[in-house]
Amino acid sequence: MNPVQPGRAAAASPKLSLKAERFTESVIREMTRLAIRHSAVNLSQGFPDFPAPAEIKRAAQDAIAADINQYAVTWGTKKFRDAIAANFERTQGVSVDPEREITVCCGSTEAMMSAMLAIINPGDEVVVFEPFYENYGPDAILSGATPRFVKLRPPDWTFDPDELAAAFGPNTKAIILNTPNNPTGKVFERAEFEKIRDLCVKWNTFAITDEIYEHMLYDGAKHISLATLDGMRDRTITINALSKTYSVTGWRVGWAIAPPEATAAIRKVHDFLTVGAAAPLQEAGAVAMNSPASYYQSLATEYLARRDRLLGILTSAGFKCFKPRGAYYIMTDISAFGFPDDVTFAKYLVTEIGVAAVPGSSFYLDRDEGKNHLRFTFCKKESTFQAAAERLARLRAKV
Ligand code: GLN
Repeated sequence: MNPVQPGRAAAASPKLSLKAERFTESVIREMTRLAIRHSAVNLSQGFPDFPAPAEIKRAAQDAIAADINQYAVTWGTKKFRDAIAANFERTQGVSVDPEREITVCCGSTEAMMSAMLAIINPGDEVVVFEPFYENYGPDAILSGATPRFVKLRPPDWTFDPDELAAAFGPNTKAIILNTPNNPTGKVFERAEFEKIRDLCVKWNTFAITDEIYEHMLYDGAKHISLATLDGMRDRTITINALSKTYSVTGWRVGWAIAPPEATAAIRKVHDFLTVGAAAPLQEAGAVAMNSPASYYQSLATEYLARRDRLLGILTSAGFKCFKPRGAYYIMTDISAFGFPDDVTFAKYLVTEIGVAAVPGSSFYLDRDEGKNHLRFTFCKKESTFQAAAERLARLRAKV
């Protein structure tokens, strides 16, 4: 038995929060740690491994050199909020008041959390499409909401309108949705949004839409912001960030666009959670949000090539792929490999083959439902694809 160290309790430690006990650490982030430990090619966590645009990096460096190094106004600098508003007007035709309807946060992760904490009361329910980006589960627990899941079913990840209608009720406070979607690559269409809108209006709920992959669209898919639909402008909280569009996931700069009353609540929560997002990076954000149309066109074209590259690699290696129409992930079906479940297979892949992916079960409440899936990301450079292709080629011979 080890002797008790000075200052450490010999008996049981004080109890931790029940909320924190109800969810696990992020599986996505854990896969990145495993990838580093096993020197695996990391196709798990969705962060680009290629450089961010030079002009945007320079703007951040210039801002630091110009001593923009103290707190920005808590809900975001005026210049950045003006640029966000102008960008939303340009891309979606929605005019918002940057003084009363935008809150800049530490990434879309904090924007989502602040939005939920700002609107949820005990007993409130939120409707969530499943499979879901893993953060939405802990977001619900931390804010005190009860999630009601509605299935997106492969291969097209469509939902049953009756199932959706049955998930709404007098306790529904919001629906959370992510389009283009992580992890499925689904891009919600207008007809689907009209059904969602009708239910939000009928039950007088909010919609929180995570639109962080708005510019990654393939095969003619179009991104629609739910806020553009009749009746939704004043009940939608639109979440976005610099992270994916400008390849700066580590900057942690995102925002929530919401009607004035909701924004006032979001700003208060945000202020006491984080005070504010990094001031010099907001300066760079203003430059980024004013990028020319050609920037977004190239981004989409480059991501299309990356999608097709990874689809080719995975298909040759024996994976069944669900071709994404948006975002930068490929959901696969791994049944053909004969492993008992996704976690076992993901561990085998990272340790024996040297490629990291995310087990499908981390996107489902009932982990069994994701056991035949593995998610790969393609926000990677060619040398990463090359290394992944070489390693995955060994898979067929081995299993
Ligand atoms: N959104 C990315 C993913 O799904 C990264 C999330 C994160 O780690 N913050 O992989």
